[in-house]
Amino acid sequence: MSNECLTYTKVLTISSKKRFELIHITDEVIKAVRESGIKNGLVLVFVPHATAAVIANEYEHNIVQDYIEWVRRYVPQEGGWRHNMIDDNAHAHIASAIIGPSRTFPIVNGEVIRGTWQEIMVFELDGPRYRRKVVIQVVGCK
Ligand code: ZN
Repeated sequence: MSNECLTYTKVLTISSKKRFELIHITDEVIKAVRESGIKNGLVLVFVPHATAAVIANEYEHNIVQDYIEWVRRYVPQEGGWRHNMIDDNAHAHIASAIIGPSRTFPIVNGEVIRGTWQEIMVFELDGPRYRRKVVIQVVGCK
């Protein structure tokens, strides 16, 4: 039995079509873990962007609209934000700061451990954007 330990990094480029959008990437994360060959470790899913976030939750039409509604309700675009004097996306920075730019998942015996209702999504908060990067870093042992 091999016990090689390594780090495998994959960068996805995705695009968004709306101001707010949830982009489902669970399959890409599982694929990256398979490619890495790592059987036990962690996978980090990170967006190197200040106006996007990563979540792990249910990907169902109504709840997806509710995530967006939560942002609209609690971090309104027209919030009198100071940053809007130089840009028009303070709401996106604030929501990204609160929700966070990454999530980490355990890998056990080659499987990414998730709950039944935990799909992995990039939360676009300031789209549409032609190029959004998603860094998937797998760390562990074969
Ligand atoms: Zn800005």
